[in-house]
Amino acid sequence: MADFDLVILGGGSGGYACALRASQLGLKVVLIEKDKLGGTCLHRGCIPTKALLHAGEIADNTRHASEFGVKADFHAIDMAGVNSYKDGVISKLHKGLQGLVKSRNVTYVEGAGKLVSKNTVEVNGERYTGKNVVLATGSHAKSLPGLELDGTRVMTSDHAMHLNYVPKSVIVLGGGVIGCEFASVWKSFGSEVTIIEALPHLIALEDESSSKQLERAFRKRGINFELGTKFKSVAKTNSGVTVTLEDGKTFNAELLLVAVGRGPVSANLGYEEQGIKMDRGYIIVDDKCRTNVPGIWAVGDLIPTLQLAHVGFAEGILVAEEIAGLNPRAINYDGVPRVTYSEPEVASVGLTTAAAKAKGFDVVELNYDLAGNGKAQILKTAGSIKLVSAKNGPVLGIHMVGSRVGELLAEAQLIFNWQADAFDVAPLIHAHPTLSEAMGEAHLALAGKPLHAHG
Ligand SMILES: Cc1cc2nc3c(=O)[nH]c(=O)nc-3n(C[C@H](O)[C@H](O)[C@H](O)COP(=O)(O)OP(=O)(O)OC[C@H]3O[C@@H](n4cnc5c(N)ncnc54)[C@H](O)[C@@H]3O)c2cc1C
Repeated sequence: MADFDLVILGGGSGGYACALRASQLGLKVVLIEKDKLGGTCLHRGCIPTKALLHAGEIADNTRHASEFGVKADFHAIDMAGVNSYKDGVISKLHKGLQGLVKSRNVTYVEGAGKLVSKNTVEVNGERYTGKNVVLATGSHAKSLPGLELDGTRVMTSDHAMHLNYVPKSVIVLGGGVIGCEFASVWKSFGSEVTIIEALPHLIALEDESSSKQLERAFRKRGINFELGTKFKSVAKTNSGVTVTLEDGKTFNAELLLVAVGRGPVSANLGYEEQGIKMDRGYIIVDDKCRTNVPGIWAVGDLIPTLQLAHVGFAEGILVAEEIAGLNPRAINYDGVPRVTYSEPEVASVGLTTAAAKAKGFDVVELNYDLAGNGKAQILKTAGSIKLVSAKNGPVLGIHMVGSRVGELLAEAQLIFNWQADAFDVAPLIHAHPTLSEAMGEAHLALAGKPLHAHG
């Protein structure tokens, strides 16, 4: 079947966003998906984990209800109930997305596709040819050499998403975003949790101050972690697993979650055969997501940019608009908002202090403690907003820790992406009492006129 403007391989965040935008621009699109429309984010990633985290939040709120003068007893987590709530959310969004794709006249093809020439993908014996091919086959959970996954005792997030019981104890291998989110869920559900992380900090890509605050908060919640120490081996026992670290320490638990990162889905899909430039399985693209082969583009987790759903959306839209001749602006990846949705949340946009210094900025830092924020006190959350600013210049980075601070990113990313400085933000009035006031207060303090800030 010929004559498409775009043949898109993979119907996850990157692929479907590209399909929707391209069809909106009047282009003829075929979208090929071997599993479920919506991909990792909807079925195995963002949405299910956030539902689990929300169930965990309700459990914690119930346990702590008396601190707010509310009498409630926490009995247990009913995993069947949690899963039915989570799956209900996924199913509703899945149906909505299917309807959207249909209504935009995107040709949707179910099946595993393979790139068989520079402009053709073959699926179920049929060939789909287009002026452009967009590769969006996403990523998969990685493991370590010698670490065998069995999906019951030793598992990835794909398996953990479907657990029908609350494990008594868990070892989480990897203290990145996914590892910390699962650690947070399981602790809220009542498991004993230990995180093993080879790097010196949890969520090591964040500003060091955020990592340290999360570590403090996790310690307070009773989440154990071993930092700067590498995994050596795992042995299955009658009751679970024993994990041995390179420093000789051992840990026992009912199960091991392997959360050591995600790698690109690019093997045996015909990419190399067509001469596409790749590095460790990732497809290399320019700032408009073009590969080195004219007419072939790649987006989402398949390229070495931040592995986030909203990055996939942005890249998919960018490609559709570039193909339609709109000449969109390239993405500034520093301006991408990032959230770890654990309790407490960690959210950031822009540069860390270390990155700003490495770029040669004369850096000024401002820490606003949430202790001075009325809403934070009402919620009984601790944390802070840290501003990284150029001296007499724009705000270069905003780093936040605390319950619900992910919601503050909407404003933080405007501040960063519009290159605002403290004097642009300080006069903006923030509603009282909201957490967002802390954003205003931090900028007031940076502008030299702190209100509810000591020192
Ligand atoms: C546990 C977890 C939690 C996450 N939480 C968040 C979060 O809170 N926020 C956030 O922004 N991001 C989160 N992410 C990351 C996010 O899910 C990914 O960045 C996003 O899904 C990437 O989109 P994509 O389109 O590149 O790939 P995917 O979503 O993986 O989609 C690729 C699609 O291609 C299909 N495919 C692959 N090969 C073929 C083939 N040969 N033929 C046809 N189809 C094929 C796959 O079936 C899949 O549906 C999370 C990820 C995980 C694992």
